[in-house]
Amino acid sequence: MSAINFAVIGYGGMGSYHVHTIMPKEQIHVKGTFDISKERQAVSEEKGHYVYTSYEEVLNDKEIEAVLIATPNDSHKELAIQAMRAGKHVICEKPVAMNTQEFDEILAVAKETGQTFMVHQNRRWDPDFLIIRELYKNKQIGDFFQIESRVQGANGIPGDWRHLKAHGGGMLLDWGVHLLDQLLFMIDSPVKTVAADFSYILGDEVDDGVAAFLTFENGEKVVMEVGTTNFIKLSRWYVKGTKGTAVIEDWDLSGKLVTPTYAPDVVAPTPIQAGVGLTKTMAPPSEEATKTLPLPKGLAEYPEFYQNFYDVIRNDAEPVVKNEEVYRVLKLIETIFEAGEKQQILTFE
Ligand code: NAD
Repeated sequence: MSAINFAVIGYGGMGSYHVHTIMPKEQIHVKGTFDISKERQAVSEEKGHYVYTSYEEVLNDKEIEAVLIATPNDSHKELAIQAMRAGKHVICEKPVAMNTQEFDEILAVAKETGQTFMVHQNRRWDPDFLIIRELYKNKQIGDFFQIESRVQGANGIPGDWRHLKAHGGGMLLDWGVHLLDQLLFMIDSPVKTVAADFSYILGDEVDDGVAAFLTFENGEKVVMEVGTTNFIKLSRWYVKGTKGTAVIEDWDLSGKLVTPTYAPDVVAPTPIQAGVGLTKTMAPPSEEATKTLPLPKGLAEYPEFYQNFYDVIRNDAEPVVKNEEVYRVLKLIETIFEAGEKQQILTFE
């Protein structure tokens, strides 16, 4: 079957990354790009693409079957709606929209036109996430009861539209959406309560960091944290299970898991001096009490994003990223904003 003919809308950081790094040539053919910036148009032309001079020109091009929308967050809704009305399928970058009201409008047009609308929640394929998801399922450290998922940088908010509320800036919408998508995709239970604490250390009108505290109906608890002022960072993942603890330090996947041996002859830990006091509780467990193991391999049992999009369009496959899942994440983001503003623990409906 033939490759899907695409136009890429927004040939900036992510749009060009799609074109040059992640769009597979067998399934996706990029006919051209459209960007409102003359500079980006010139770069695209240099790379040998056809450069559309208006969005209308893209929409009127009968050869274009689908568009990738990789523009600032506030423009996703209008661009997506116009594309679907012009008979194009849409891949939209995350966060899908500024709020659930906007997403409702997008979904109504997807329904009305019958076009496919899929959101690029690519971090469901991150190797670190797949390891944690494997541990969640294989119960090597028992049932998870506390999950800490963090991304921490020290470079502040990147110097672009991400500083501005009107464009959907801020770290919850930027990185929070990825971490929450992973967590809700993995955890097999509805969110029960939400608390949040935002950081505005850099003086921007949008959050430069956020910590969200979630509880789930099954009793699991999550700390989700995004930071841009962390000159010393914490581990990417720290997970406590009923039978052990796992850590993934960084994107390089360094980490380990430690489980109790349940050996019958375990010697009680000897008290240690801690600070100016003595403790048995915080002493390291005796050698035979625990074992340290390498992290398991994590594999996605679902197809790659673009393979899946291709199969949705050409072979009527089920999308891996479902719009109702994306909706739930956006709703959770709204509740996190509200919980942060009110400084209250809110129930998630
Ligand atoms: P960017 O600023 O690098 O690029 C955006 C481009 O869109 C710019 O070249 C700009 O000129 C162009 N543009 C703005 N409005 C436009 C319009 N109406 N029509 C056509 N072009 C327009 O931003 P970015 O970092 O590439 O982010 C773009 C989108 O991709 C955002 O939604 C962002 O959240 C998302 N993103 C996703 C990931 C991921 O891992 N999934 C990573 C980075 C960014």
